[in-house]
Amino acid sequence: MRITHDMHTHTTYSHGLGTIEEMVEQARKIGLSALTVSDHGRSHLFYGVKKENFKKMREEIDALNAKYDDIDIYLSVESNIIGADGTIDIREEEKKYCDWIYAGFHYSFVPKSVKDLFNFLGRNIVSALLPIAPLKRDTRRRNTITYLKMMDRYTLKMITHPGNRCPIDIHAVAKKAAKKNVILEINPRHHHLNARELKAILPYGGQFAINSDAHRVPHVADVEKAIRAAEEAGVPVSRIVNAVEDERPIENNPRRA
Ligand SMILES: [Zn+2]
Ligand SMILES: [Zn+2]
Repeated sequence: MRITHDMHTHTTYSHGLGTIEEMVEQARKIGLSALTVSDHGRSHLFYGVKKENFKKMREEIDALNAKYDDIDIYLSVESNIIGADGTIDIREEEKKYCDWIYAGFHYSFVPKSVKDLFNFLGRNIVSALLPIAPLKRDTRRRNTITYLKMMDRYTLKMITHPGNRCPIDIHAVAKKAAKKNVILEINPRHHHLNARELKAILPYGGQFAINSDAHRVPHVADVEKAIRAAEEAGVPVSRIVNAVEDERPIENNPRRA
């Protein structure tokens, strides 16, 4: 199995180290047919995309798409979940420049309200630090409701690293994602989704994507760990939107050599 489209990459517009053009050049070099640039939503404390940069990124991507006919480049944003009610940090004036929208949970965002600072972000941090079972259970229950509401509020292409640092009932989220056509990501940089979770949610019929979440040029399509998790769980390639069977012979295949 190999990926043909890296759907989750970061550039210098948030905290990646490569420019859009450098990431695209790398993707072409290693033979990808598509690349999506998905920098962090603006509520990220240190490196959210500035609102005036969405237009600039769109223009850069349009120019690169005109320049190259061997790769398709897309613009997305990895929106932060900023409220327990499922609110994410994307505005209409930003969305209009994007081909599609992702959402993911991170620690370093500015919550929607003071209530969300304590009841959503704070609760998740405290629950991760303290070994208190009822708190962990309640946090997981609340987080699950947040993810379900989010899928009702927005048309999302994909949820990045579902459940990472934000424990959820993966069964409930996967069922809803399958119904709403939201892709669940298998991400080699994070612990969720892992092989055990993937195996458990396979019967619900949803789709997956394997992405690098690259923050540096050499890491584009560096997804070996995620491919291993998908294979271990027995996820069929047909359920992974950006993967194909790897038909190249072993000796010509750097990832299997
Ligand atoms: Zn992320
Ligand atoms: Zn990311």
